[in-house]
Amino acid sequence: MKVLIIGSGGREHAIAWKVAKSPKVDKIYCAPGNAGIAEVAECVNIGAMEFDKLAAFAKEKEIDLTVVGMDDPLVGGVVDVFEKEGLRVFGPRKNAAILEGSKAFSKDLMKKYNIPTAGYENFENADEALTYLREKADFPIVLKADGLALGKGVLICNTLEEAEEGVKEIMLDKKFGSAGNTLVVEEFMTGREVSVLSFVDGKTIKTMTSAQDHKRAKDGDEGLNTGGMGTFSPSPFYTKEVDDFCEKYIYQATVDAMAAEGREFKGIIFFGLMLTENGPKVLEYNARFGDPEAQVVIPRLKNDIVEVFEACVDGRLDEVDLQFEDNAAVCVVLASDGYPVSYEKGFPIEGLDSFKDKEGYYVFHAGTALKDGKIVTNGGRVLGVTAKGADLKEARANAYKATEWIQFANKYKRNDIGKAIDEA
Ligand code: AMP
Repeated sequence: MKVLIIGSGGREHAIAWKVAKSPKVDKIYCAPGNAGIAEVAECVNIGAMEFDKLAAFAKEKEIDLTVVGMDDPLVGGVVDVFEKEGLRVFGPRKNAAILEGSKAFSKDLMKKYNIPTAGYENFENADEALTYLREKADFPIVLKADGLALGKGVLICNTLEEAEEGVKEIMLDKKFGSAGNTLVVEEFMTGREVSVLSFVDGKTIKTMTSAQDHKRAKDGDEGLNTGGMGTFSPSPFYTKEVDDFCEKYIYQATVDAMAAEGREFKGIIFFGLMLTENGPKVLEYNARFGDPEAQVVIPRLKNDIVEVFEACVDGRLDEVDLQFEDNAAVCVVLASDGYPVSYEKGFPIEGLDSFKDKEGYYVFHAGTALKDGKIVTNGGRVLGVTAKGADLKEARANAYKATEWIQFANKYKRNDIGKAIDEA
């Protein structure tokens, strides 16, 4: 088989690495890819939003399966373009990717189908949102830009003044562009967060092992929200009891709700859950693997991932026995100092070879490039260092040990990824 992967981050590197292990696959392309992905795939200089060029490339190269890693092309309808051309593609169509693309849509869906989530109101008008906040809101309260905002469109406001400023930023100043045309005002919840990713074939859903992300830039969950500074898997807080509840009220219910709305979902559904004292609730849905959740979940997957992708596309996921290793993994992101605000790029990276042939240690490239034959930093999040261990503590120690093998100027990491493990 020939496989094309769309995307260029650590998540796509993890996908490409796993696809390369499939005996069914003899050639992988990645558009646009990065310097690490280039070790397992031929990188093609086509942007993830250039749908027609991507489809033309897939036809020309007779690609058997395309896997879309990123949210923007999914929400923009890349799957529809590929399907129209008769190409096999893994991911939700535009009318289903709206589950991630519009928070107002997903909140209305959950309400209509009684899927547990925080209370909320949607607003298309800033004055109405402000009146609501002044007259009816309890603080803290959460403001969310409806559309895609690189994970940054969520504001937790402790006071009315903060909320007024937030409405201005999102709806009037359009800090997140058209993503802020609609505003979701949501009840503030407290509890531990867990990410559960799943494969979906339109009818059947099979969840993967759980994970937990660390979104803030600095230790102790301080600093700005980022794309994610590290992950661990499984989450010790995702108990059998929690899983039973989610199986009963959240996972299949979401897939059935989408089908009932005429929005059959095929691909990955990522459930961002909060374990509140009133039970698990959905914080958000994503329509693709999380980044860096993929970097701890995929290395623990026992199945041939290409077979699972194909089963989803063909609507026969019920035949797949999805299995994960009975161990743990931790990913620590190595970033450029200054991320997520401003940072320098172009510094040579040393030590990447240390990972070669080391069982259970992986370095997934996020923002890297090849310059004069050397791999250099090329983004805010540069690398994701993942290590496995028999348990979470061992995996964490291994991952932090492996971060020392890598050197580049302005290297920055959080030192408390997986701290929650000690509280379990
Ligand atoms: P989201 O993109 O919707 O997952 O929001 C990003 C982050 O904001 C989440 O991971 C939570 O930490 C926080 N968050 C979102 N919604 C709420 C809420 N209703 N209550 C408390 N925290 C929230």
